[in-house]
Amino acid sequence: MDQSKLLAITTTILICWVIFIIAWERISPYRKGLPFFREGFWVDLVWYTIIQSYFLKILIFDYIIAPLQHHFDWSGFQFIKSWSVTEQVLFFLVTHDLYIYLFHRLQHANKVLWRTHEAHHSGKEVDFLAGSRSHIVEIIINQTIEFAPIVILGANPMVIPIKALLDAMFGMFIHANIDVKLGKLKYFLNSPELHLWHHANYREVFHANFSTKFSLWDHFFGTAYDPGHKPGDKRENWGLYYDYPKDYFLQHAFSVKRFDEQKFLRYRWFSWYYNSRPRMVGWLSSKWKLFRKLNPVTEKLEYKTPDDLPREPIELKPIQEDYIFYDK
Ligand SMILES: [Zn+2]
Ligand SMILES: [Zn+2]
Repeated sequence: MDQSKLLAITTTILICWVIFIIAWERISPYRKGLPFFREGFWVDLVWYTIIQSYFLKILIFDYIIAPLQHHFDWSGFQFIKSWSVTEQVLFFLVTHDLYIYLFHRLQHANKVLWRTHEAHHSGKEVDFLAGSRSHIVEIIINQTIEFAPIVILGANPMVIPIKALLDAMFGMFIHANIDVKLGKLKYFLNSPELHLWHHANYREVFHANFSTKFSLWDHFFGTAYDPGHKPGDKRENWGLYYDYPKDYFLQHAFSVKRFDEQKFLRYRWFSWYYNSRPRMVGWLSSKWKLFRKLNPVTEKLEYKTPDDLPREPIELKPIQEDYIFYDK
C-alpha cells in the first residue's frame, strides 16, 4: 500500500474516533457537567495539538531521526524487515509502551524531569483532548525514542503512521471523560478508569498508574491504584496542587523558573497579550451566533488585573522558587 493511501485511511479512522469519543463523553460522562469547551480547551487544541505537533514532527523526523539514521549504519541488523507489518507494529507497541511506563515513572520521581511533565497534569478539567498537553522536551524525548528505532532498524514505512494512529487513539481514550468499565480486561488494557485517577490531585496517585496503553505494567510492577470510586467533581480534586500558568509560553517558562503569572498582568504589554485569546473568543462570539452557542463559557475567559481577581474557593499552595514536588 502506498503511503498517501495509508495516510488517508489513518486520518479517516482518527476523525471517526474523535467523533465517537466526543459522543461517548456526552452519553456516559465520568464527571457530569464537564463543558465541551472546558478550561484550557483552546490552548490544548491550538497550541499543543496543532502548532506544537506540527513543528515537533519536523524537528524530530527531519532534524533528529534523519541525522541519526545517517550516522548509524545498522543495515546489517535489520532483522525486523523479515517480520510482517502486524508483528512489527506489535513489537514496537509493546517495547515502547514499557519504555514510556518507566520514563513516566522516572518523571514523577525526579525533580528535574518533573518539570517536563507537570504541564500534562496541569488541567483541572480532563477530557479526550487533555492528553495532548505535553511539554516540548517530553515530546522530543519520547517521540525520538519511539520513532528512531523504527527508522533505524529498517521497519516497514507503514509502521510509523499506524503507530502514530494507535498513539492518538489510546491517548484520547485514556483521558476521555467517559465512565467505562473494562471488567477483567482492565488488568491488561489501560482505560480512563485508571488514567483519570493519575490526573487526580491526591498523594496516593502521584506515584501510581503510569501506564499508557497496557495497564499490565502497573499491575506487574505494583503501581496500580484502583480504589473502585471516583476522585470527585470539585476543582481541587484534579490537576496540580499548586498554581500553574494558563498560557502556552508561560507554561514552558514555568518549567525553567517559578513565577506568579498574575503578577505579570501589571505590565500593559503582557496584559494585552494574555487577554488576546479571550478577546478573540469574545469577538468570535459576538460575530457568530453558533460559536456563542457552542462556547457558552466565554465570559469566564476574561482575565482581570490581580487586584480584581476573584479569589478561588480552594486554597492553593503558594508558588515557591524551590522545587514544588510531592514527597515520595
Ligand atoms: Zn504523570
Ligand atoms: Zn495523562
